[in-house]
Amino acid sequence: MEQTAVRDSIRESWAASVLPSLSELVEIPAVSQNFEPGWAERGQLHAAVHHVRRWLETRAISGARVDVVELDGRSPLLLLDVPGDADAGTALLYGHLDKQPPVGGWSEGLGPWTPVVRDGRLYGRGAADDGYSGYAATTAIEAVRAAGGSHSRCVVMLETGEESGSPDLPAYLEHLRPTLGEVSLVVCLDSGGNDYQRLWLTTSLRGLVSVDLTVRVLESGQHSGLASGVVPSSFRVIRQLLDRVEDSRTGEILLPEMTVRVPEDRLAEVRASVAAAPGAVRSAFPMVRGARPVSDDEVELALNNSWRPTLSVIGASGFPEPLDAGNVLRPFSTLTLSFRVPPTADSAAALAAVEKALTVDVPYDARVSLSRTESADGWNAPTMAPWLSSALDTVSESVFGASWRTVGLGGSIPFMGLLARQYPEAQFVITGALGPDSNAHVPDEWLHLEHAQRVTEAVAHVLHAHASSG
Ligand SMILES: [Zn+2]
Repeated sequence: MEQTAVRDSIRESWAASVLPSLSELVEIPAVSQNFEPGWAERGQLHAAVHHVRRWLETRAISGARVDVVELDGRSPLLLLDVPGDADAGTALLYGHLDKQPPVGGWSEGLGPWTPVVRDGRLYGRGAADDGYSGYAATTAIEAVRAAGGSHSRCVVMLETGEESGSPDLPAYLEHLRPTLGEVSLVVCLDSGGNDYQRLWLTTSLRGLVSVDLTVRVLESGQHSGLASGVVPSSFRVIRQLLDRVEDSRTGEILLPEMTVRVPEDRLAEVRASVAAAPGAVRSAFPMVRGARPVSDDEVELALNNSWRPTLSVIGASGFPEPLDAGNVLRPFSTLTLSFRVPPTADSAAALAAVEKALTVDVPYDARVSLSRTESADGWNAPTMAPWLSSALDTVSESVFGASWRTVGLGGSIPFMGLLARQYPEAQFVITGALGPDSNAHVPDEWLHLEHAQRVTEAVAHVLHAHASSG
């Protein structure tokens, strides 16, 4: 397949058609269902789906079908089904059209629903996360055809619930299972990497365990001068319980059920990725001046973030605001504990271990209760097939001029585990246009237009290589 033809096809489409349509998509406030309980009546998720659907219908890809699937009470799903000229199984290309909420604090001249192109960037909510994905997937397929390449059947699937944890996707995957056929390649365009110089592949995702922990010591709040020293503080009890699961000096999680041995190949990848983009891990977050990360060693930081368990206390109740705080020994303390667990940990076993550690032999026999428990497994990519790694090498050389690298994502994409279980033979390319400072989920979100087009070229090459992998 001729690289120049791939590139020209994508450049032309993006300039003439993708950028205008994607800009209009930015204007649609398609906020995800968790943040917009009235989403069905407001119709913005539907508006986003119909906007992209209309664009797909102008593309005239021969043999292609465009469908909107809508199961009862669930957010809509947009599908583009493109027959292939090769038979290597179905390539499933995933993205999402729902968005994070707008949030305040956008810079002068920018706004969540105002598309602005400036310095090679498209600003606006949902441009990079993840509005561009359907355009990238579609123009990649077109480029394969324009350049005389081959592709197997491709199904572009754009859901509208990702920012709410994809609650509807399992039902859609089940519903579509007979029509999808044997999925042998999953391309997920909802991720990114540590720089804009190369293609980044996400090779693992952490899982999640969460629980609300309540420690109750009193039937009602009491004068703290009179009760303290007699009645134990619920906060002190909770501190002792937390010490059972986390070393408060280092942040190390103490439960064996939450730790795994880092596979050798992943360890080597982490080292290579840190070497490729030195400083990227350390400086990824806006720490206050003078504060230091957990370690000086970036490899350790990357491993902490991708292959080790961590605890974040993400919510609390039973505490008044400081201005309302009287001298009261509070009757209870509740903390919401959010653990990230390694990609290959058994999250159900990890949750059971947390439950046991927090409820057995409680100091002062205080009353402990756990509620809203949740667990979800992470994901570790299967061993990469030779056809895929050689395609990625080609992409590195001809598209980026820099070697592809991998990242283990600290967060979760819950349905990846689901897809991996449903299609155990499939290869996974989890990538995307997000990079340092692209501001997904915060003000001033922007899409790196050049990088997004290179990622699109990469997808074209992967599809072409996939066609002859069967
Ligand atoms: Zn996303």
